[in-house]
Amino acid sequence: MHDHHEFATRVIHAGWTPDQETGSIMPPVYLTSTYVQDAPAQTRNGYEYSRTQNPTRFALQDALAELEGGVAGFTFSSGMAAIQTLLLSLKSGDRVVAGNDLYGGTFRLFTKVAARFGLRFDFVDTSKAENLDAIPEDTRLLYLETPTNPLLRITDLERAVAAARRVGAEVAVDNTFATPALQRPLALGADYVLHSTTKYIGGHSDVVGGALVVKDPQKGEEAWFLQNSAGTANSPFDAFLTLRGLRTLDVRMERHCRSAMVLAHFLEDHSQVEKVHYPGLQSHPGHEVACRQMSGFGGMVGFELPGGEPQAREFVKHLKIFQLAESLGGVESLVELPAPMTHASIPAEERRKAGLADGLVRLSVGIEAVEDLRDALQTALKACA
Ligand SMILES: *Cc1c(COP(=O)(O)O)cnc(C)c1O
Repeated sequence: MHDHHEFATRVIHAGWTPDQETGSIMPPVYLTSTYVQDAPAQTRNGYEYSRTQNPTRFALQDALAELEGGVAGFTFSSGMAAIQTLLLSLKSGDRVVAGNDLYGGTFRLFTKVAARFGLRFDFVDTSKAENLDAIPEDTRLLYLETPTNPLLRITDLERAVAAARRVGAEVAVDNTFATPALQRPLALGADYVLHSTTKYIGGHSDVVGGALVVKDPQKGEEAWFLQNSAGTANSPFDAFLTLRGLRTLDVRMERHCRSAMVLAHFLEDHSQVEKVHYPGLQSHPGHEVACRQMSGFGGMVGFELPGGEPQAREFVKHLKIFQLAESLGGVESLVELPAPMTHASIPAEERRKAGLADGLVRLSVGIEAVEDLRDALQTALKACA
């Protein structure tokens, strides 16, 4: 599909044209570890070994590259494997400036694993422009999430790219929350886009995976080399499932966004709720930037209960429809408490410094009828009052 088609059209066709031989409209799942060669080192179209090349994975990789507006895409066994593979492009002593409100597993990988190999990390609130402007001269990589997890803070991507360029740093954006349906960081100047495809890209909570898309062909060569060297790629079957989910991304995101907006307004107007974090709300400090760089505000909503973790625990105990689980971005609605669950690996002191309240509740708003979701919230709020 070509650039002039709308996203909603491209998301259906990207990465695959019906198979020449059979006309197969969907990519076959190439469950093979190796490929027959016609003579030593004479492969058929370059296929040698499945860690290195697999047609099903290529279909997903090409689709994601196209949808993010990159030159090459790579998919991995998990979002963490994608992030780890990007880190492998750095060397001991390199400085990474990262957001201070990252996915908990990313924070753990940076501080507990990558730091052992000599990478240096600074964590700053990248939603504040003055922090971007102050990044050190020797910064090698600026690593961002926007919207962040779980506070839905917004970083001005154009500003971040300008700040990184000034010191010669590259910019990587974890686009898991927004997806290319709502935000395309490469078009705003970023060098890398990362995904946990486990979330909205896959969309059905049935497969774990990750992706890395690059804008520059040379970085594409490097990423391919690292994916193959480290063996972090996903399986053909996982690639198939993820691609199957990806096809409906646009319609799903439309519903996620619409319902999340309704619920965010409902919560903001509710007397028992202390604070709502949703970039679609006028009250959100990143609202204006979000309007500029996103075409929708996503399906994640955070809110704080004044009674802290005990009240939040009471709330989830009484909440119907929303299942209590980590993860997000599936068709079904989920609820979780970041402090004792997804963000427990961040020390309590760090959490509070980053503004992550103990009574924070995070919703992944699914595509059920929004009236039912609102009623469920209403009932649970009453029960935990
Ligand atoms: C889930 C998540 C990850 C990690 O992805 P996995 O697929 O669980 O390894 C990274 N970043 C964000 C924003 C996430 O939500």
